Order: sequence, then C-alpha cells, then structure tokens
Amino acid sequence: MGIKRAGREVGTFFPAGIDHSPMGIEQLSCPTCGTTFEMGLPRSATVQSVTTEAREEPDDDRVKVRPNACPNGHECYVMFRF
Ligand SMILES: [Zn+2]
Repeated sequence: MGIKRAGREVGTFFPAGIDHSPMGIEQLSCPTCGTTFEMGLPRSATVQSVTTEAREEPDDDRVKVRPNACPNGHECYVMFRF
C-alpha cells in the first residue's frame, strides 16, 4: 500500500495497531548521493537515521527499520521511533 503522490509511489509504513494514526511525509536525505526523498511515516515517528547498510531492528517495539530507496535507486534503511 502506498501513497500516490506526483504520480509515483512513496514508501509507506503502517505499524500494526495504529493504522488510523494520521500519516506524515518525512523528508529524508539519501546517504549515498544526498538526494532528498520522501517517505510516509506515522506523524508521531521520529527518524533516527538513514543508512546504506541493512541492520537488525533493536529489541524495542517502538523502533523500526524499513528499507527504502532514493529516486536514483540507492537502497537505504530508515530507522525511526514512534
Ligand atoms: Zn541516492
């Protein structure tokens, strides 16, 4: 499921249990090329970091890691707390 915006899909994340929370669009910077891109996250989410390496989700139900990619196709991993 994604948000249609300007004709393309942006990454979205709907944590179980808070599906009805208002969504916000976070502006992120690609760690590889610095291009700004958008990702839909719960409005209450705080982005912790964006990295090029996949990593384990911490043992914390409030912290999630989700893969994404910038418009140039660089994969990255967004860690956020909500
Ligand atoms: Zn990039």
